Amino acid sequence: MFTKLGQNFLTDDSVAKQIVDSANLSPRDNVLEIGPGKGILTKYLARHAGRVLAVEVDRDLAESLQPVIARSAATKQSRTETGNTGLLRPPAMLRKAMRAGFARNDKLTVVKGDILKINLPKLVERENFKNYKVVANLPYYITSKIIRLLLETKYPPAEMILTVQKEVGERICAKNGQESILSISVKFYAEPKILFYVPKENFEPVPEVDSVVIKIKRKKSIPNVDVKKFFSLVRSGFSSKRKMLANNLSSSFRIPKAELWEWMKKARLGRGVRAEKLGVEDWVRLYRFIL
Ligand code: SAM
Repeated sequence: MFTKLGQNFLTDDSVAKQIVDSANLSPRDNVLEIGPGKGILTKYLARHAGRVLAVEVDRDLAESLQPVIARSAATKQSRTETGNTGLLRPPAMLRKAMRAGFARNDKLTVVKGDILKINLPKLVERENFKNYKVVANLPYYITSKIIRLLLETKYPPAEMILTVQKEVGERICAKNGQESILSISVKFYAEPKILFYVPKENFEPVPEVDSVVIKIKRKKSIPNVDVKKFFSLVRSGFSSKRKMLANNLSSSFRIPKAELWEWMKKARLGRGVRAEKLGVEDWVRLYRFIL
């Protein structure tokens, strides 16, 4: 079943614990959660991490996490809203939050906003969150856009534990020979890995497909290339699925095929190779010869 805003809520607490355990959190870790929904992951994150910043686009859901804030109205540290991000800071020692497993109120910040529209670097700076992990059960309709944002943003997370649609997760973690623009885009910056599968019956409403939890660990260094040009090469290589790499590149860059074969040979690639067979290192070698 397709839902508004990808709202398929996780219902099984033991799965939520398993997801949070996969992040290996310590009190020194800050966590960004995207789409906390009803908070099934949030409460465990707040229990194990130093601080949690949760960004939720749905006003009702964000507010359902706000008893935290509403109950504090009588206290000094009541709700504060700042600027356009609609930042909400839960006040100290709220009863509801304690019942839900939050250690202290200063653990959790709920932001009502669209993760694709808010100024993430600004938020990260303001929260002093530069060293952080992401843990999220992502809204499926914008999974790739969110992953791309987190890989390319000014202060990228060191690690992401993401629940995504099974097919998407498998495509991202593709083994050699089944690469795609998506897998190369992730592997350029990070090392993705499948952790475990979550059957669709663990969500409400039950979605059409199963999910998988993946880990995306940021690489210490990324290839030294012009990123825009590099990905225009990759996109050109994948432009027609049925064609060989040489044909795609030859028509995109208007290079005679004979010349292209020479470059490919130097890059240690066979003439008949297809784009899906190339790993990031192959693309980088090719880039150095062609661009
Ligand atoms: N974390 C909860 C769970 O595991 O049950 C909810 C996960 S649900 C798959 C995705 C959540 O992302 C929903 O709460 C939805 O409202 C929220 N969401 C959808 N689009 C969003 C966006 N652009 N920015 C922030 N949150 C978004």
